Amino acid sequence: MDEFELIRQYFTRASTDTDVRVGIGDDGAVLRPAVGRDLVTVVDTLVEGVHFPANLGASDIAWRAVAVNLSDVAAMGGRPRWMTLALTLKNTDRRWLGEFSDGLFAAANEHNVSLVGGDTTRGQQVVISIQITADVEPDRALTRSGASAGDLIYVSGTPGDAAAGLELLQSNALTTDDARSLADRFCRPSARVRLAQAIAPLASAAIDVSDGLYADAQKLLQASGVGGQLEVNALPLSAALQATFDTARAREFALGGGDDYELCFTLPAENESRLNNIASQQNVSLTRIGNVTAGDDFVCTESGERFEYRDSGYRHFNEAEKSET
Ligand code: ADP
Ligand code: MG
Repeated sequence: MDEFELIRQYFTRASTDTDVRVGIGDDGAVLRPAVGRDLVTVVDTLVEGVHFPANLGASDIAWRAVAVNLSDVAAMGGRPRWMTLALTLKNTDRRWLGEFSDGLFAAANEHNVSLVGGDTTRGQQVVISIQITADVEPDRALTRSGASAGDLIYVSGTPGDAAAGLELLQSNALTTDDARSLADRFCRPSARVRLAQAIAPLASAAIDVSDGLYADAQKLLQASGVGGQLEVNALPLSAALQATFDTARAREFALGGGDDYELCFTLPAENESRLNNIASQQNVSLTRIGNVTAGDDFVCTESGERFEYRDSGYRHFNEAEKSET
């Protein structure tokens, strides 16, 4: 199977998007943006052995590669539209490719994203780079830099599950339903695209949680030039996480574990009641975990008392590698 047959067989699928004027097959894709909207572009690369274990199923690898990009789009409050895929493969295993393309299109179709082009190469390890183009109302993109002292800090979902799931996967410890559901959160993260678009008008700043809640909240606060306080008793720990690990460990996963692709955001207190409506409409849990403060200290508390948290305390495979890049 040569490169052209591979692209045709696995990556060329009919799209109903009439704004794709020229798709896969020419030297470049021609896309028609919606009049008057700002464009948002993101790209993220996953390297075998660094960002995912080499034995992860091909459809999960592809799903993750799309989801991590959708999560960046979400964090900007964007509506994802088109993607390109630069794929480096060790060989052309048909079964692997079939599963990979199924996972890829499953993740993309969920958000009406069309694959409009890419590049295919051979190399020593699998490398997947996906770029997504999204759009947003003019001047309405959510950024990291808009938080002010007095704002509330929120997180969606139950952070920590994916990192716990990866650890269980890697230690072959998927022996309970809870453990399997945690692993599933690593394999199939769901980017908060719809949620982010709904909260964008209420939020002052946002970031997606890819490196860990503490580290990513800190990036948001730094970008905004403010400090913060995070209450560890408020962390929304999932039932599966609490059933599988003790509280100290569960908190470490929630604060330091990456790969959740949940949304951490800030908002002025007066917007809180409107936020609660969105949470119930979308059936997503949104939890207030702290406050934005003046200055530049970012502290954790436990029932209001200072709680010492060292972000270097826990590193799983995925993060230890990531922090080197
Ligand atoms: P060129 O050599 O002109 O860059 P390629 O042979 O790399 O063209 O690609 C041919 C067409 O297939 C282009 O439209 C390109 O965007 C698309 N393509 C290549 N690889 C992929 C892929 N992995 N996924 C989607 N489209 C791809
Ligand atoms: Mg060309």
